Amino acid sequence: MAICDVCGNEYDKSFEIRRGPVTYTFDCFECAIHRLAPQCAHCACRVIGHGVESEGQIYCCANCARKQGVTDVADRGDGPSGLGEIGRAAGQGL
Ligand SMILES: [Zn+2]
Ligand SMILES: [Zn+2]
Repeated sequence: MAICDVCGNEYDKSFEIRRGPVTYTFDCFECAIHRLAPQCAHCACRVIGHGVESEGQIYCCANCARKQGVTDVADRGDGPSGLGEIGRAAGQGL
């Protein structure tokens, strides 16, 4: 049994996440995301995947990065090469 650092719930299926020297205890992933996931510098949503990092800022997607003035980023699907990636992936599924 351990107590969640975020909501205080004491739960037998709690778990720990260690980041650097600090160990956190959570009762669920939602609480872990609330405490640890970075926020997009443009839309403020929680970044729980890889996100996009540029000049020390983290964005949820290339679109948000571009809206903050970052020009050298692209999501899959942006531009001709991205469309090619999607086409190949779809072809493999058939
Ligand atoms: Zn919790
Ligand atoms: Zn965003």
